[in-house]
Amino acid sequence: MDLSSVERELRAARAGLEARLARAHDHLTRSDGPLAQDFAEQAVERENDEVVQALHDRLAADIAALDTALQRIAQGTYGVCTVCGEEIAAGRLKAMPAAAKCTACAERG
Ligand SMILES: [Zn+2]
Repeated sequence: MDLSSVERELRAARAGLEARLARAHDHLTRSDGPLAQDFAEQAVERENDEVVQALHDRLAADIAALDTALQRIAQGTYGVCTVCGEEIAAGRLKAMPAAAKCTACAERG
């Protein structure tokens, strides 16, 4: 496995997620403008906030998973299942570069 290209891929994915997270954060902290004056518009914005908050949380979790994968590359444990210690199938890593468990362990939860 070419770890340096995996690492590049993980870092590129992380940068993309960071940019999206920053936009979601801006939206939630209203640095993109004050709440709308109109009540109906406020309601729409608040509903929007819930969607953006959920997106924000998912992006943060995805970034954390990528960070863990990058740490595992640095420690030389990348591609090894954190549960059973078996190698994670190359196809699975290709589809999910941040995977920390092999397919069998992931299916067991
Ligand atoms: Zn496993």
